[in-house]
Amino acid sequence: MSHSENSKFCQECGEQINKKAEICPECGVRQPSAEGDTNSDKIVAGILAILLGGLGAHKFYQGNIKYGVLYLCFFWTGIPALFGIIEGIIMLVSDDSEYERKYADGSIFGKF
Ligand SMILES: [Zn+2]
Repeated sequence: MSHSENSKFCQECGEQINKKAEICPECGVRQPSAEGDTNSDKIVAGILAILLGGLGAHKFYQGNIKYGVLYLCFFWTGIPALFGIIEGIIMLVSDDSEYERKYADGSIFGKF
């Protein structure tokens, strides 16, 4: 099978699949949405989380205003700062597709 413009490779198993496929027919794993869909960068999000996590900076950056405000409200407890450091490290060590799947939407400690 030749490489065509209408195909891409599955993030999980590497099988060539339809470019528009949301779920790989081969392994059943959901594909990250089309390129450019995520407007946050894991490096930026991770660094913000570590440095300014207590203010919810990474949540605001990821567009998750609800959690951003929550972190900001509890800033005085120091807990958001601790969460931010942990989240920042998790995001920085995760690979790009994992970041897209679990952390890009600003979920606390990622989606499982
Ligand atoms: Zn697959």
